[in-house]
Amino acid sequence: MSLTIATSLDEVLTALAAGARPIAGGTDLVVGARQGKAPLPDSLVAIDRVAGLSEIESVDGQVRIGAGVTHSRLMSDPLIVQRYTGLADAAALIGSPSTRNVGTIGGNVMNGSPAMDTGAPLLTLGAVVELHSVGNTRRVALSDLWTGPGRTSANPDELCVYIILPEVPAKSGSAYVRLEYRRAMEIAVVGAAAFVVLAEDGSIVSGRVAMTSVAPTIVELAGASEAMAGLSPVEAATVIGAMASDQAVPISDLRGSDRYRRHTIGVMAARALDAATRRAGGEPIRVPVNRSLGIGAAR
Ligand SMILES: Cc1cc2nc3c(=O)[nH]c(=O)nc-3n(C[C@H](O)[C@H](O)[C@H](O)COP(=O)(O)OP(=O)(O)OC[C@H]3O[C@@H](n4cnc5c(N)ncnc54)[C@H](O)[C@@H]3O)c2cc1C
Repeated sequence: MSLTIATSLDEVLTALAAGARPIAGGTDLVVGARQGKAPLPDSLVAIDRVAGLSEIESVDGQVRIGAGVTHSRLMSDPLIVQRYTGLADAAALIGSPSTRNVGTIGGNVMNGSPAMDTGAPLLTLGAVVELHSVGNTRRVALSDLWTGPGRTSANPDELCVYIILPEVPAKSGSAYVRLEYRRAMEIAVVGAAAFVVLAEDGSIVSGRVAMTSVAPTIVELAGASEAMAGLSPVEAATVIGAMASDQAVPISDLRGSDRYRRHTIGVMAARALDAATRRAGGEPIRVPVNRSLGIGAAR
């Protein structure tokens, strides 16, 4: 096995073009190999020392998150916590402090798991990924990135360099919740993210909802914005909960049956919407919502 420790983006892209696989925190790649899920690739390029991959920047109203930004940084970065709170909720739930200190947003998104926690909030916030290869850069919407469990539409020689979030409007809020059986080192049984924009009278103008662990990829709830428009938050939570259970196509595994998941995703979607609308209305619900509102595992 060969390992290149890269210090520049050019070095990484050259190594990828020659067949290497990127490794960031290694919390999926190395742990998966140790668990026997897949052997380590013959050739790896470490990207954690590449300058510029670990920054969170505001650029022309958008926010550009480097793929190497860790979950610890995301959950405490003031810009993310204030404007993209659902993403901070998700980052704060991942693994343990040591997993969050090395695990990255790029690794989470590019690993393509249907149980990834940052995926649903990123989808509701309208994120796109910027993929770089030698001589080429392109932006891909997240709905076009994930193609199946552990699969993405990125080519093997492409590196995710940034995750880009559009500006959020006034009177908007977001939240991510997950059903979990314990309070750390857990994988979402199901999870839901919501983003909403409120009118002056507190009714919903528009919004998006996305779901974790109920389909082969993270999926957006179809028709959510139209269904919520003009409703009060309480009415909308009921409607969205029913739609989520209806659209979910989960599997049964050791964490839950398909029927249990279909029921609980309705509950989680309604709770995510409730928290997002309360935040949009100015209520300061601390990150992560799971702990603040007592959702998931008991104290
Ligand atoms: C104990 C434990 C608990 C965990 N808990 C959770 C949890 O609660 N929620 C959750 O969602 N995940 C969880 N995970 C999974 C993992 O920590 C996250 O998915 C993490 O974000 C992966 O990031 P990484 O930097 O470690 O990725 P790596 O393992 O380095 O890489 C993962 C994959 O992405 C590719 N990759 C990495 N960076 C890039 C890039 N910039 N461009 C293109 N491809 C790239 C790699 O080649 C590899 O295929 C847990 C893992 C462990 C070990």
